[in-house]
Amino acid sequence: MNDRWGPCRTCRYFASPSNAPEDEDRARCLHPVHSRLDLVVTGASGCTGWELRPGLAREQAESELQEQPPA
Ligand code: SF4
Repeated sequence: MNDRWGPCRTCRYFASPSNAPEDEDRARCLHPVHSRLDLVVTGASGCTGWELRPGLAREQAESELQEQPPA
């Protein structure tokens, strides 16, 4: 985990078959911690376990990363 929050639609663990998932898409989260929970998330969801989805430009995805919201 890191101190930045990223959106599921640009995350490698978002199990959408789409090459460019949208905010409203739903898919399982395959993050090693979350997958034990059989968690289904939307493209607009996110967390600090975010990692860049293969095939996306890092600069574009990085511009969407946000500081982690206060708990
Ligand atoms: S919940 Fe976190 S780890 Fe899972 S797809 Fe979304 S950003 Fe990635």
